[in-house]
Amino acid sequence: MEKMKFLFGPVPSRRLGRSLGISPIPKKTCNYSCIYCQLGRTNKMTNIRQEFFKIENILNEFKIYLKDSDKFDIITIVGEGEPTLYSQLGNLILELKKLTDKPIAVITNGALFSDENVFKELLNADFVLPSLDAYNEELSKKIDRPHGSISFEKEINGLINFSNTYKGNLWIEIMLIDGFNSDKNSISNFKKLLRKIKYDRLYLNTPVRPPAENFVKTVSKSVMEYASKELGGISIDMLSSGFFFSEIKDSIEAILSIIRRHPMNQFELESFLQSRKIKDISKFIEKIEENNKVNVINYKGIKTYRLK
Ligand code: SF4
Repeated sequence: MEKMKFLFGPVPSRRLGRSLGISPIPKKTCNYSCIYCQLGRTNKMTNIRQEFFKIENILNEFKIYLKDSDKFDIITIVGEGEPTLYSQLGNLILELKKLTDKPIAVITNGALFSDENVFKELLNADFVLPSLDAYNEELSKKIDRPHGSISFEKEINGLINFSNTYKGNLWIEIMLIDGFNSDKNSISNFKKLLRKIKYDRLYLNTPVRPPAENFVKTVSKSVMEYASKELGGISIDMLSSGFFFSEIKDSIEAILSIIRRHPMNQFELESFLQSRKIKDISKFIEKIEENNKVNVINYKGIKTYRLK
């Protein structure tokens, strides 16, 4: 299969199974610049929705993919930034639905639920997975560092309204960061806020991949357990992610295509290479490390591979 520009994976998702990713957003284009972002710091900060890429080009790529494979459980629209900034998102969901029966998920930072169009467009997705990292404006500014035109209050009211209308699966994710939003008072504030939202599942996460800022710290297991119990959430840590998979024949190209949107740690890379029956895995990994497109980050003693 040819190298794809918009599609990636399927990648194993701890929540969604084999997820075929579609990214309609240029790299690091977002209305947030989260301190924990695994893509690094946002370098194209915008809150203006645009047709960054022609919708026909994305759909054509998907049609080509479908000719060769249907080895995925779900389509996930997820950007190398924030997918709701794609002005054709609503049409993209509707057009994809004409081409496949597989469910469609949108992973979003939730900043634009207050936008009338985004609100309507997301109603057609089967799964919407917004993140909720803060319970007030001050904390949002510290963790998410949103675009200046975004108001926390508007954003939360948008999410609450959306949750009252949406008929699909609304799965919220809270990223717990030590020293920011994980103490008992914060958990109690999240609890109060969550009572106002009609959601189906709550996932709790902590930054396990190299974050944009090196002062970001993961929470301990006991904090995660406390939060899970108090909030009735599922810890993503406890879910296994399974194996990566790519239709691209050339293994180096396959890895570059995966880590462009989804960094892999050394264990994930090794299992991926084993699944491809690569004979000398250490030598192959050396080759990856020497590739000038790859950034090798040593985080908590574990190597993570990300595209530069
Ligand atoms: S984590 Fe998501 S919302 Fe936050 S900066 Fe990165 S891409 Fe944007």
